[in-house]
Amino acid sequence: MTFAKVSLIVLLAAAVFAQSSGTREVESIYPDAHAFYIDLHEHPELSGHETQTALKLAEHLRQAGYEVTEHVGGTGVVAIMKNGTGPVIMLRTELDALPVEEKTGLTYASKVHMNDDAGHDVPVMHACGHDIHMASLLGAAEIMARSKNTWHGTLVLIGQPAEETISGAEHMLKDGLFTRFPKPDVAVALHVGNDQAAGVVAIVPGTYDTNADSLRITIYGKGAHGSMPHKSVDPIVIAARTILALQTIVSREVKPGEMAVVTVGYIRAGTKNNIIPDQAEMALTVRTFKQDVRKQILAAIERIAKAESAAGGAPREPLIEHYERTDSVYNNPTLAEHLRAPLEAALGKNNVVSAEPITASEDFSYFVAQGVPGFYFSLGGADAQKLSESKTSGVPLPSNHSPLFAPVVDPALHGGIAAEVAILRNLLNSSPDELHKLTSEQPSH
Ligand SMILES: [Zn+2]
Ligand SMILES: [Zn+2]
Repeated sequence: MTFAKVSLIVLLAAAVFAQSSGTREVESIYPDAHAFYIDLHEHPELSGHETQTALKLAEHLRQAGYEVTEHVGGTGVVAIMKNGTGPVIMLRTELDALPVEEKTGLTYASKVHMNDDAGHDVPVMHACGHDIHMASLLGAAEIMARSKNTWHGTLVLIGQPAEETISGAEHMLKDGLFTRFPKPDVAVALHVGNDQAAGVVAIVPGTYDTNADSLRITIYGKGAHGSMPHKSVDPIVIAARTILALQTIVSREVKPGEMAVVTVGYIRAGTKNNIIPDQAEMALTVRTFKQDVRKQILAAIERIAKAESAAGGAPREPLIEHYERTDSVYNNPTLAEHLRAPLEAALGKNNVVSAEPITASEDFSYFVAQGVPGFYFSLGGADAQKLSESKTSGVPLPSNHSPLFAPVVDPALHGGIAAEVAILRNLLNSSPDELHKLTSEQPSH
């Protein structure tokens, strides 16, 4: 047998050992993480109102031996474990759920209702899978706390509120996340979804998701009796024209092949059939990968909205409010490729794949914008059989935010925990020089 063959066998044996010892490690804390998941799924809370969720996470992390601070940027939780000199690595989970009525039929389906910020009673569901993220973080936290001889440095775990309203990351930063607490050398997070089979993780080097911009446009007209259109300036007709003209931005102005979405998500106007209202309101979401395409689209929206109002004889220019925005999440490509090997060792080679950027958005980019390199990866939640059937039939599985979104907890949660532990250990055991080399590339967009 050649030296190369012997080395290969040793390597394979080491990988198998790492995987099976990793599996045992996850099994030892799995009941805790699973029970936490079920509890969270049954008791979801809306963005900015995650008081019980935050309290539970804080208590579990305190019990695991972390130094925990609550109410950071609202309901945010920061848990720290110092273990000698070494890098500072942050792992983040979101805390919030969505105003969605759960229709999964699961025995632990949510039946929760809450008042939203406008005071309306709404059903609430963990329809984005943030409960899987919290349970994965708790599992990883417990394993890291029990195996302090396998790493050194400072582990910072955060429970971030209000991701769905793109405000929680910013609020935690404004409340001193990177000044009151150690500033991380790398920030890590995952998101569960139905694009991969449960337990598989996907790496996206470079741009992971889209820039997102939320705009509200109020069109002003002149109200009148429905039978007397000549005495009105009808804002509904101007809004209708505006919406159709907005469709030409992506189809006629943006270079074919560039990622660009302009969606009008709602339009509100009027109260009664025989009244022409005096204003109409609509709101848009804009998604892009590139900053120059983003600028081009935002300028086109303003130009079209103003011009359609002028064309319709509106008494004044429309009000355009840019009320939410977030940059795309950027995965430093060298770092992302570097983490492939530890992930493969922990999960098995077949369970680590590469994926394309997604069209959704995330406020994790606020951490990256503070100069903290990020590694944001995808965790599969789909039933493997259903996923392959859906690929054959072309009928997609329920996506995140669907009332039917139901990740297959086992093995998704196993995968989430094992992946996070593998990444944290690898990064915490890196020297400052190594980390610098892995993270020195700048975003190219
Ligand atoms: Zn979501
Ligand atoms: Zn989400």
